[in-house]
Amino acid sequence: MEARDVPATLIRGAAAIMTGLSAAPRSAGPDIRIRGSVIAEIGALHPMPGEDIVDATNCVVYPGWVNTHHHLLQALMKGVPAGMNAPLRQWLDVVPFAFRMRFDEDMLQTAALLGLAELVLCGCTTIADFHNLYFPGIAFDSSGAIFAAADRLGVRMVLCRGFSARSRPSTTPQPLSMPPETLPAVLADLEKLTASWHDPSPAARRRVVAAPSSLTQSAEAGGLKEVAAAARRLGLRMHSHLAESRDDVIFCREKHGLRPLEYAASQDWIGPDVWFAHLVKLDTEDIRILADSGTGIAHCPGSNARLGNGVARVLDMRKAGVPIGLGQDGGAANDPGDMISEAHFAWYVHRAGGGHDALSIADVIHWGTRGGAEILGLEKVGAIAPGFEADLAVYELDDIRFAAFHDPGIAPVATGVRPRLKRLLVGGRTVVADDQIIGLDLAELRRRVGAAVQRLMTV
Ligand SMILES: [Zn+2]
Repeated sequence: MEARDVPATLIRGAAAIMTGLSAAPRSAGPDIRIRGSVIAEIGALHPMPGEDIVDATNCVVYPGWVNTHHHLLQALMKGVPAGMNAPLRQWLDVVPFAFRMRFDEDMLQTAALLGLAELVLCGCTTIADFHNLYFPGIAFDSSGAIFAAADRLGVRMVLCRGFSARSRPSTTPQPLSMPPETLPAVLADLEKLTASWHDPSPAARRRVVAAPSSLTQSAEAGGLKEVAAAARRLGLRMHSHLAESRDDVIFCREKHGLRPLEYAASQDWIGPDVWFAHLVKLDTEDIRILADSGTGIAHCPGSNARLGNGVARVLDMRKAGVPIGLGQDGGAANDPGDMISEAHFAWYVHRAGGGHDALSIADVIHWGTRGGAEILGLEKVGAIAPGFEADLAVYELDDIRFAAFHDPGIAPVATGVRPRLKRLLVGGRTVVADDQIIGLDLAELRRRVGAAVQRLMTV
């Protein structure tokens, strides 16, 4: 659909508008005019002929959330008993690695639709999905399935093309372990995906990213440098998991003789075009390397807490000038599939550690919206201001728990409870209206999910 096919929209009378911008976190509004895919003006505005009017009385408007680290595949792996109390490496073996080779194309499509439905219903409009279902001889188009699901729901998809080009020692017998790819096959696929899907524009709906599953383990020495050079030649950003647990840091020191960020730097894997998930176990020198190079973090506090890995030092990172975004990390490591509860938890956990004035709700909203979009290189996404893409979540505060808020703008994050979505727009197009996802039958999806989970549990 071209921009000319998108009707002009006027969001009228919002009770509060949170912009996602750190310099000016609120706008008095109370009205927002959208033309085509873009926010045209904000203020006290009069309706114009032909506009689609959204009555935003008793609503707060946020930028659509930008999830900088997710695993849609894991939407079908919630609450797996074998992994509930396991440390990270064992958890990887008994949850995601144990199930992923059981996926066929239908199960992948089901997982992607479920994960995206959860995210869309919390007001998330951009998803960086770390997708790592790739192996020699795979019988279906694994990348295409993710993009197709994103297109069906109408969200922005940043496909982080995961890979492992070397076998990883397992903590358990792995009858269905995924065979590694060769590095030339990975590079060839990155090239093909770039030609097929990648849009470098600042308001892109589809992006491709080079993403070794583990920076320290997924390639032999020198391989990462090759991937980095290829990614930069193709104009792709780079993403990986790094320093998620103490074991990761010990492995990096033993295998490579370096701390995580030193190793990343030695492989050309730092810079403003790189971001890492987790970064829980960093020392001050690592944080300095991040800040000096402009390397970003997908901060995943819920996943880090759920898996018992700790709390990343993002307050120190912020002080040092490290770019920060929020990541939800997928259903297996963080069951809710919800950016509002993630933002709420970030707000709580860093005040618990950092004090009463360590972090405001506006700060957390910035991380989860504009901060994340900057990390992904989506320069026209993630803020409510004229000229930005109209990715807007209009939350209706009709739940009784919101009734007493003196400041309605903070209510969703302060409570951590998802309000009803009066409207969700992505690039001016309506994706959710009156809390219903356009074009997706949730009852039918629930049936598909039930069948897929049964198959995962019994195969
Ligand atoms: Zn992850």
